[in-house]
Amino acid sequence: MRISDILRVKGDKVVTVTPGSDVTQLLALLAEHRIGAVIVSADGTHVDGIVSERDVVRALAERGAAVLSEPVTAIHTVQVRSVAPDAAVEDVERLMTEHRFRHVPVIEGGSLRGLVSIGDVVKNRIDELETERTSLAGYITGERS
Ligand code: AMP
Repeated sequence: MRISDILRVKGDKVVTVTPGSDVTQLLALLAEHRIGAVIVSADGTHVDGIVSERDVVRALAERGAAVLSEPVTAIHTVQVRSVAPDAAVEDVERLMTEHRFRHVPVIEGGSLRGLVSIGDVVKNRIDELETERTSLAGYITGERS
């Protein structure tokens, strides 16, 4: 299974925020779209960074509410790990586990093609297990779906 298979199901929509936006605007985006991270991008295509709810929590704990009026670039991560659409889903699972993050942007030819979250990866794994279970049950009972 490839990352492109996941994107085919979930779509290629990625919520981005411009580097000049402040943390309050970031929080509004996270709440509006019910997501945990957004890509920081000046043009909506190239990845300048990633910022997640964890970055906000950490900065709030360190510097207090003043963080809310700081630009997202004060708290974002610049060294973003990404994958190509033809990456294996297992490689992304490994990347998330090794580096302890839950979001991986998908990039092709320097442009953003989608974003895979740990929720997408878990859903894909459950779907695979369900397909396998149905086919094994069919094999045992002699019924084919
Ligand atoms: P998350 O678990 O995705 O909410 O992110 C945890 C931390 O890792 C935050 O500091 C994020 O900015 C950072 N982060 C999230 N995704 C990535 C990624 N793909 N590459 C590098 N850092 C990331």
